[in-house]
Amino acid sequence: SETTTTSPQAQPHERSRTGEELPLVRAVNVMKSFHGVEVLKGIDLDVHRGEVVVLLGPSGSGKTTFLRCINQLEEIDGGRIWVDGDLVGFREDGGHLHHLTDKQVAAQRRDIGMVFQRFNLFPHMTAVQNVMEAPIQVKGVGKKEAKARALELLEQVGLGDKPDSYPAQLSGGQQQRVAIARALAMDPKLMLFDEPTSALDPELVGEVLRVMRELANQGMTMIVVTHEMGFARDVADHVVFMDGGIVVEEGKPRDVIVNPKHERTRSFLQRMR
Ligand code: ADP
Repeated sequence: SETTTTSPQAQPHERSRTGEELPLVRAVNVMKSFHGVEVLKGIDLDVHRGEVVVLLGPSGSGKTTFLRCINQLEEIDGGRIWVDGDLVGFREDGGHLHHLTDKQVAAQRRDIGMVFQRFNLFPHMTAVQNVMEAPIQVKGVGKKEAKARALELLEQVGLGDKPDSYPAQLSGGQQQRVAIARALAMDPKLMLFDEPTSALDPELVGEVLRVMRELANQGMTMIVVTHEMGFARDVADHVVFMDGGIVVEEGKPRDVIVNPKHERTRSFLQRMR
């Protein structure tokens, strides 16, 4: 099918000719409506390789929707998103956008890991089976190799002693760490986190944030929606404050969180304290 295009925008490969490093993610003027209500009103964002970007903002500001657009769980109504130089969801041809096939969409999504507020583990599978499943089913990795890698990843998230536990036998924090290991098993180039700790009891938040922090230290490119200000301040390279479907303010954590310029950012941060 064919969609009308919005005005042509700078493309990632145009920048590469200048010698500047390509962003891993580039979003330009991204728009999304639900039933005629504009939820994203033109979001621009560059995420460079190895960067951690934290999205902050009040409930309903469009943060989750934006993540879901990057991962093609929602289709955008305007603008463009590129991941690693590839236009997300579309192929461009003489100013027209054509939808990618389901197979091409699946191939793009394979390279992006996503961790949700709810852990979404397969309840009838053990921790290690949860982590092995996608590499075997989607990538055709052999069972033995997938299991070895899954055990390594469980070790990495601090669950080396729990491979045979079922989700119901694990705490929320442990389940969320399995979910992170499961996303990592696909060797994603980008990890999206949608409020990964907000469904957890307070005493379990730290263990999940610690795993995310280690992942950031290892150089993973991450976009994180969270209300954890300590994490944002300490781990983010770049903080984006969204409100009402626009980016109100963005910059280094010390600028956005410590010295916000905009009244809307200030009042949001005050409510967070
Ligand atoms: P945030 O993550 O910042 O809390 P969301 O992206 O979840 O914001 O939601 C932004 C707005 O879009 C909200 O008003 C929400 O009700 C609406 N919305 C999100 N998803 C849908 C959907 N699938 N259908 C209708 N409205 C939606």
